[in-house]
Amino acid sequence: MVKVNENYLKLEKNYLFIRIAEKVNAFKASHPDATLIRMGIGDVTLPLAPVVVDAMKKAADEMGVKETFRGYEDSGAGYDFLRQAVSGYYKSFGADVPMDDIRINDGAKSDCGNLVDIFGDDNIVLVTDPAYPVYVDSNLMSGRKLVYADSDESNNFAALPCEEGYVLDGVMVHPDIIYLCSPNNPTGSVYTKEQLAAWVAYARAHGSVILFDAAYEAFITDAALPRSIYQIPGAKEVAIEMCSLSKTAGFTGVRCGYTVVPSELTATASDGTQVSLKQLWNRREGSKFNGVSYPVQRAAEAVFTDEGLKQIHENIRYYQENARVIAETMTALEIPFTGGINSPYIWFKCPDGMDSWAFFDKMLNEIAVVGTPGAGFGKNGEGWFRLTAFGDKENTIEAMARLRKMLSK
Ligand code: PLP
Repeated sequence: MVKVNENYLKLEKNYLFIRIAEKVNAFKASHPDATLIRMGIGDVTLPLAPVVVDAMKKAADEMGVKETFRGYEDSGAGYDFLRQAVSGYYKSFGADVPMDDIRINDGAKSDCGNLVDIFGDDNIVLVTDPAYPVYVDSNLMSGRKLVYADSDESNNFAALPCEEGYVLDGVMVHPDIIYLCSPNNPTGSVYTKEQLAAWVAYARAHGSVILFDAAYEAFITDAALPRSIYQIPGAKEVAIEMCSLSKTAGFTGVRCGYTVVPSELTATASDGTQVSLKQLWNRREGSKFNGVSYPVQRAAEAVFTDEGLKQIHENIRYYQENARVIAETMTALEIPFTGGINSPYIWFKCPDGMDSWAFFDKMLNEIAVVGTPGAGFGKNGEGWFRLTAFGDKENTIEAMARLRKMLSK
């Protein structure tokens, strides 16, 4: 008789955004005339940059001609033209990442989950709380134990390593795998170089591996802030980085990202031998992944051209202006918040001590604005709320006017 993976039974019954969608659908059914403004799910709304569309069309045409048609890509790691472009992009902000350490994928979410395949199930995993739910779920699914680093008001939602370790089942432990995300989803906080260096030093001291999620690096405007963990000396021996074109270039529906596993990164096997994590990762991908489509990779290559970068930054600036409008509203309402600068997310404290699902219901029912309750991202998210700047400008302005009105009652 078939047995299920019992670990799945330990997961929250519904992924956060499914629960939100259910509530929104019920609201729409009972308020058919309401003009709903969605600032919940972090999806982009602007169309792809013209250079990206042109590159995708050209590649589609090539696929229709015998001489230029492409089937399976040899390695499945990504075409050299794109891996070279990503390597050049890293170089532009001071990170030395050779193309051989880069693999192209269908977005960062897949690899956030897939990477754990190369690590033993007895590793202890650290996740900052609150966090992007995929880090927690992927590890619960494989039965790993988790510890949490508190991100809260006391550290401006940027948890730093605790040198004494973390309590797991009543015992102090040092985690083996550490998930970090900067700029952070959901809190919008960004690690400084010094803060990230503290995590790198912690990982080096305790033989841990950092899985660094840089999905929002393109939103960093302050040149002093790190956009890649590889801007930190010594990181290559302890860190894997995941990044994505979803938010950088509006690829949420196109699907393309990249993961870096440095050649320098090793782990110790049970017989004491040093194993290259890059080799394990390539082996895993060789068996389970056949690469990203040619037209998508050509589209991604176009993002990293001078014209592509210029065009995607016009879109990013549009979202940054929305973030400014939201942040300005919070300031005017004297609501404590993080993010909004160097990040497309604004993370604010629910007024009057409300819990975050109660505030979600209030916003939905009273002003037809959808946000994301902080509690969905972990225990420290309770009492906090996330809004995204990925909507359109008029809706963002209108939503903030409605919020001001609601809170001035
Ligand atoms: N990482 C973080 C922190 C995210 O917020 C998201 C998407 O919202 C992703 C990764 C995954 O993005 P994608 O799979 O579209 O690349």
